[in-house]
Amino acid sequence: MDSQSQSHGHIVMLPFMAHGHLIPFLALARRIRHQTPFVVTLAATPLNLQYLRSIISPYDADSRIHLHELPFRSSEHGLPPDTENTENLPINQIVALCHSSVSLAAPVERLISDITTEEGRPPLCVISDVVFGWSTDVARRLGTKSIAFTTCGAYGTMAYVSLWLHLPHRSTDAEEFSVPGFPERCRFHRSDLHRIIREADTTDQWSKFFQVQLKLSLASDGWLCNSVEEIEPLGLDLLRKYLKLPVWAVGPLVPSDLLQKSSPISPDSTLRSIQKRTGKALGVSLEKCLDFLNSHGPNSVLYISFGSQNTIGPGQMMQLAIGLESSGKPFIWVVRPPLGFDIKGEFRPEWLPPGFEDRMTRSKQGLLVWNWAPQLEILSHGSTGAFLSHCGWNSIVESLSQGVPIVGWPMGAEQAYNVKMMVEEMGVCVELTRGLESQIGAEAVKRVIELVMEEEGKGGEMKRRAYAAMRQMREAVKEGSDDDRGSSVKAMDDFVRTILGEPAKDTSSSSS
Ligand code: UDP
Repeated sequence: MDSQSQSHGHIVMLPFMAHGHLIPFLALARRIRHQTPFVVTLAATPLNLQYLRSIISPYDADSRIHLHELPFRSSEHGLPPDTENTENLPINQIVALCHSSVSLAAPVERLISDITTEEGRPPLCVISDVVFGWSTDVARRLGTKSIAFTTCGAYGTMAYVSLWLHLPHRSTDAEEFSVPGFPERCRFHRSDLHRIIREADTTDQWSKFFQVQLKLSLASDGWLCNSVEEIEPLGLDLLRKYLKLPVWAVGPLVPSDLLQKSSPISPDSTLRSIQKRTGKALGVSLEKCLDFLNSHGPNSVLYISFGSQNTIGPGQMMQLAIGLESSGKPFIWVVRPPLGFDIKGEFRPEWLPPGFEDRMTRSKQGLLVWNWAPQLEILSHGSTGAFLSHCGWNSIVESLSQGVPIVGWPMGAEQAYNVKMMVEEMGVCVELTRGLESQIGAEAVKRVIELVMEEEGKGGEMKRRAYAAMRQMREAVKEGSDDDRGSSVKAMDDFVRTILGEPAKDTSSSSS
């Protein structure tokens, strides 16, 4: 440990084993490093650590972010060899991966003890994923504070936690029901729930993991949230009242150049730097993407992507293609093999209408990107007008931070709750369909694209609201003296006071 950690303090961070969690954890580590004098140790299993190492820049490596390997053998948990991440894992094995994470308690305990011995005092706190509730006990036993970090939004987190802990849909036959912690006007519908929670009954493996781990996280000293006070007032208020803990909204956790006034497509947005950031090979050159976007007018292009690991059904893929073509609107579509085909397999033309890709290329209406696109660069380009998304929280934050409204097609996790919040509370989203099994027709695709792209009417209103959210997100990370500081910067100050054991200032951002 260096002398800096001796004098200022140390924070240990424990991300869940999924890219959608590792990325915001690293972003949070960078934010902490930027705003505080503390040393951060990110601890993960060997392959996840390898991924973090591949996307961490030399700037991070030289600074106060350390990486620590937690030993893990997937075969001991009934998982295929070298399985340490949800990526490409069938859903029945994801639950086994979740349970396997409890085995990390012993190596985490050793890590905290070693830091304590070396520095003569325990770390200031352990920041762990909300689903790593086991770490709350470890932290307490070793004399450090335990902080949970939710990589989701506040409303989505609140819904996820309350639905898992109470399973309210199991005690009614009604299609619509109220959810503990939510006001009556926010009733949920059975179809908002993914099959695994719809069928959960407390004895299944999913309930056994989430009910235990989330309950343990309720006993932590506070929660950090990748959200912004001004964009999620309801979600944050509900979460604070439910948890009765401080909740610090320190988002948006996106690369800082995305929050500058001008376009973040800077000269150093090269292929190498994008691949470095995401750890993925791009399915298109950045130049080709920019040429396509530059050849279309402001706010005219629809960007389509289903996140880092999702795909859609073969029939849905066909209808989406027909609907896109008949809308006549320009689009960039990240294409993956549809459900039922090898996710790592080759592209097959029969997944799309005959001659589709050729026609789209010749007419310059569409650009198909195989598997992985430079999402941040696309969303931040002035020609991108809307985002058809599965509504993972990272994608939402990235889109709204650029003022881009959303067409929702939620797949799982808390994505349908995110859509509900964005439709009912923020007015920045319209839902197209949900899940892999829905019978989506090309006509519906065409209608929704036309709606979201219109300059006036509902589409125009969604755009105005997305712009307002963008301004609020940028204000939230504004640094300056006292009153000038944005809400997320102030929330981080308050979090620091709490882990140092100093009295909290009276800020709304953390009040429980
Ligand atoms: N992403 C990307 N290019 C792609 C698809 C995804 O850069 O073609 C990135 C995207 O910018 C986001 C993350 O992958 O940061 C997806 O996270 P999200 O929470 O939206 O969804 P998840 O993959 O966790 O379901």
